[in-house]
Amino acid sequence: MAKTRPPKKILESYTIKGSDKVIKPGDCVLMRSADTSKPPYVAKVESIEAAGSRGTNVRVRVRWYYRPEESIGGRRPFHGSKEVFLSDHYDVQSADTIEGKCNVHSFRSYTKLDSVNAEDFFCRFDYKSASGSFVPDRIAVFCKCEMPYNPDDLMIQCEECSDWFHPSCIGMTIKEAKKREHFFCQSCTAENGKTTENFHEATAESEEKSNWLSRAGVGLDRRL
Ligand SMILES: [Zn+2]
Ligand SMILES: [Zn+2]
Repeated sequence: MAKTRPPKKILESYTIKGSDKVIKPGDCVLMRSADTSKPPYVAKVESIEAAGSRGTNVRVRVRWYYRPEESIGGRRPFHGSKEVFLSDHYDVQSADTIEGKCNVHSFRSYTKLDSVNAEDFFCRFDYKSASGSFVPDRIAVFCKCEMPYNPDDLMIQCEECSDWFHPSCIGMTIKEAKKREHFFCQSCTAENGKTTENFHEATAESEEKSNWLSRAGVGLDRRL
């Protein structure tokens, strides 16, 4: 005898229990982790449906954002505290586990926020959960230490070559870097007074440094 499936109904929105916050497909949400010692999961809502005989069982299809520590390679020094990766991992979860809404910003808009609230995150990588690989698999690096930019760390920009530096990497305190009005890095200071040709050479060199993840030790084919 054929079983009759409980009717499913696609919902346009869902109101988080115990709040007046309305979730719609496309919104980012925080979802309670089964392990209460862990921070909530970050997810993007793909669709919302009601199932069960009375349509009271609301479920959401989500696409997970991974925190760096949930990725195969783990957290690296350049990962921001509010960084998440958009994964290719989808799931269906009970809407009851939604704790609240959150915002996942692009990297650029995150760095322009006046203040970062608890619900603000940023995403600059897509993450393939099976292979642990990232898209893009290369990223610009800065400073003498050749690290990608971590928005949590203050950096100071050289007015000549436009490279960015960590104060600690150039023997400066954060306090000094903050009050510094002009900054020229060591190699640009050394270039001072040289001919335009030399300056062009220096520019070409810093462009060639071209600053990719592979150079920061995160190889294109390295299993992170
Ligand atoms: Zn550095
Ligand atoms: Zn410079």
